[in-house]
Amino acid sequence: MSSGPNSAGDLLQLFRTGSAATRNELQRVTGLARSTVTYKVDALLAAGYLVEDGSIVDGRGRPSTRLRVNDHVTTILVADLGATHGRLAVANPAGEVLLESVIESSIRKGPEAVLAMVTRRLDELLEQSGRSISSLRGTAIGVPGPVNLHTGGVARSISMPGWDGYPVQDHLADYFGVPAVMDNDANLMGLGEQRRIYPDAHQVLFVKVGTGIGSSVIIDGELLRGTDSAEGDIGHAKIIGVEQTCISCGARGCLAAIASGHAMVRDLRGLGHDLTTMRDVVQLARVGNSDAVGVVTAAGRALGDVLSTAVSLLNPDVVVIGGDIVHAHEHFMHGVRETLLGRSQPLATARLTIAPSALGDRAGIIGAAARLADVIFGSVAVDAKIS
Ligand SMILES: [Zn+2]
Repeated sequence: MSSGPNSAGDLLQLFRTGSAATRNELQRVTGLARSTVTYKVDALLAAGYLVEDGSIVDGRGRPSTRLRVNDHVTTILVADLGATHGRLAVANPAGEVLLESVIESSIRKGPEAVLAMVTRRLDELLEQSGRSISSLRGTAIGVPGPVNLHTGGVARSISMPGWDGYPVQDHLADYFGVPAVMDNDANLMGLGEQRRIYPDAHQVLFVKVGTGIGSSVIIDGELLRGTDSAEGDIGHAKIIGVEQTCISCGARGCLAAIASGHAMVRDLRGLGHDLTTMRDVVQLARVGNSDAVGVVTAAGRALGDVLSTAVSLLNPDVVVIGGDIVHAHEHFMHGVRETLLGRSQPLATARLTIAPSALGDRAGIIGAAARLADVIFGSVAVDAKIS
């Protein structure tokens, strides 16, 4: 079957976006002949991309068969790795999580050790879920560093020593025998928030505040990509007046030198508090400890300062703040709002929503499922499969 405009793969996209739900609607939207629509829909049904799902009454009062994308019965495996811990899940391409597990592992152990642990735990989860290996359609992984989309490996990353150039995507594809995708963690978390929580937003700016700081921009449902995969790496934007040294890159005055989990832990340890992780910081802020509230609020203000520039440039509908900091969101979000709104032009923020992540710890795996669904159900893959 041919590819190109109005290929079977293209028609599937109209079901994915909700532009069509029946053969009649497909005919109306595309202007194709009824016989062509029937032929292509039959091919999509036979290949398992579409399923019939009851009937609905169309505009002329006649019942017609509803068709929907068959994204519930197949299985995918997803991993969202942070600097110190990760979340793994068995899911379906619709982003419904069937079973999940949290792992504690430093990304600094390097690709062999981390991926051996990830694949072993994913194997165990798949078995526990009761889903068969034959139902597996793909895997997706998010990592806390820049990802080269052409090679499926980590581009130069100061936060992931030993990972540069390692073929992570190929490793997963070979191990599980299905397509694999890899992306930056903030990209996947932002995509998850946009697709699930803000599907109608024109532009979403997402920021992850964890051990480090990363961000992503989603425009009309698609991730904005940079020239060398460094998009969204705002943690090293410089702030005038910040004297602290960035633990990650060694420079002075980075946003991450004051607002990252690393920096908050360091600053609170300097004030005599015995803590080691971002989650310890959050816990201390939540019980109202004045040092922790001060450090977290200052971090929020610093992020708001950098974001005011981004908002002036992009004029997004929504700014979503995610990562471990979200659990301390009152204090942090207050700081963000104060400087972001105070330093932006009113027109750029008049309709701006600034919100903590609604998906929380699951944003990454839901975004990974969405990214993988775009590959599995994308025009190119579908046309290749049924041609
Ligand atoms: Zn830095």
